[in-house]
Amino acid sequence: MAIRPEEISDLLKKEIEEYESVLEEVEIGTVIQVGDNIARIYGLKNARAGELLEFPGDIYGIAFNLEEDNVVAVILGSDREIKEGDQVKRTGKIVQVPVGDGLIGRVIDPLGRPLDGKGPIASTKFRPVESLAPGVVDRQPVKTPLQTGLKAIDAMIPIGRGQRELIIGDRQTGKTAIALDTILNQKDQNVICIYVAIGQKTSTVASVIDTLNRYDSMKYSVVVVASANDPPTYLYLAPYCGCAVGEEFMYNGKDVLIVYDDLSKHAKAYRELSLLVRRPPGREAYPGDVFYLHSRLLERGAKLNNQLGGGSMTSLPIIETQAGDVSAYIPTNVISITDGQIYLDTALFYQGFRPAVDVGLSVSRVGGAAQTKAMKQVAGLLRLTLAQYRDLAAFSKFASDLDKTTQDQLAQGERLMELLKQNQFEPMPLEKQVVILYLGISGHLKEIPVSDIRKFEKEFFRFVDSSHPEILSGIREKKQMDDTILKQMETAIKEFNQFFLDELSPALKKTT
Ligand code: ATP
Ligand code: MG
Repeated sequence: MAIRPEEISDLLKKEIEEYESVLEEVEIGTVIQVGDNIARIYGLKNARAGELLEFPGDIYGIAFNLEEDNVVAVILGSDREIKEGDQVKRTGKIVQVPVGDGLIGRVIDPLGRPLDGKGPIASTKFRPVESLAPGVVDRQPVKTPLQTGLKAIDAMIPIGRGQRELIIGDRQTGKTAIALDTILNQKDQNVICIYVAIGQKTSTVASVIDTLNRYDSMKYSVVVVASANDPPTYLYLAPYCGCAVGEEFMYNGKDVLIVYDDLSKHAKAYRELSLLVRRPPGREAYPGDVFYLHSRLLERGAKLNNQLGGGSMTSLPIIETQAGDVSAYIPTNVISITDGQIYLDTALFYQGFRPAVDVGLSVSRVGGAAQTKAMKQVAGLLRLTLAQYRDLAAFSKFASDLDKTTQDQLAQGERLMELLKQNQFEPMPLEKQVVILYLGISGHLKEIPVSDIRKFEKEFFRFVDSSHPEILSGIREKKQMDDTILKQMETAIKEFNQFFLDELSPALKKTT
């Protein structure tokens, strides 16, 4: 029988192919221990940190600890179906989520699965949840404002597109309210908003989604939810998932606003995971890399340079403090990573000063560069007057008779503080903020009793809207207050004062 060379080469090829498949089998490990959503796996020698591992029955896990001869994985979802001896496969990938326009208007879990019952997500593109932050040369300084619609913030703690501004305060001080109002204010501003709910009650998340729907804001928003009863792995992944969704838009030249509500619960979920996989606990029992946990997340927010499309991702992380203690571990970490913080104060909140922004402790380190000229014109004096007022108010508690100047300064400060109050869900456009704050700092409210200030504000805008709309459109277009606008404003105030003081005020006084 003749030997045919093709046959031999075929056989050899087959052998080689089989040899390769033998090699693949080494990549299958065995579960040796499982519990608390953690699995210890023997035999995955080449597994990499953060790699997605496949368990039987379509269950996945993430390689968390690579130890000398086994791998500790956290399981995504329930570990009930996993038994000792089960086979685990490497996938060579890390967790990915669907991204793109198909996500807008949707509510998803941290693995990108829909939670809103509106069918599958229309998306063909995926992004890994972890990715490197843009480098120094990829960025450019913040230069476009991102209006929150809140007077106290836009005037004194301005935020720019691409900035990372921390919202920090005790429980129930209106942290979520500020983030939510900012999202509502992005209507028709070409900003895509992402709200990441981490470890909150399902009912709270439901009311946030309800608000977004009510104000027609879901059509430019994405909500990522890992609620309080989800496994800690979900809570851990949620912000990275939201960030990946946002990055896709940012790298396509769009502007994105992302809210992480809140990172204290995120750090706690990570602490839970770390303790379960027996990483050594450090300060407050957090693992040593808890700084990196948040820095790698927040560094991904950026204003990209023009070669990369000029997109931006503005991040508003939220941190809950205990009894106003900003020097605890997680708050100090996040304060040092961000470009400023909005500090909310419980005492102010209960005095009825809402949003309860403590303008003395709040800062914005880069947003000033992005502030509109019109706002800069009023904000400087506002900040100064309020600072003086705070000093005087503290001191005047002890003094009985005050001289006229001090009394005037106190009265002016009180009126400005009153003016900074704002109802929830009523974000205000820039031009109106400028007009009303100008009235405040230029002393036009001197005659108005403090309790009537907010009524005055409402009536004045009604009057301007109907009789002097040119003031608002002028500021909107010119973005600054020139002599023409100032003159128009003086006329408007004069006309209105006659009307308000003569006709409205007595009526108001009767009703109050
Ligand atoms: P938590 O710590 O529970 O997350 P939080 O700090 O996020 O609370 P919010 O839920 O935003 O606080 O607000 C607490 C309460 O205060 C809510 O009932 C909200 O409606 C109310 N509130 C917030 N801001 C304002 C405001 N500007 N005017 C009136 N009420 C407000
Ligand atoms: Mg909240």
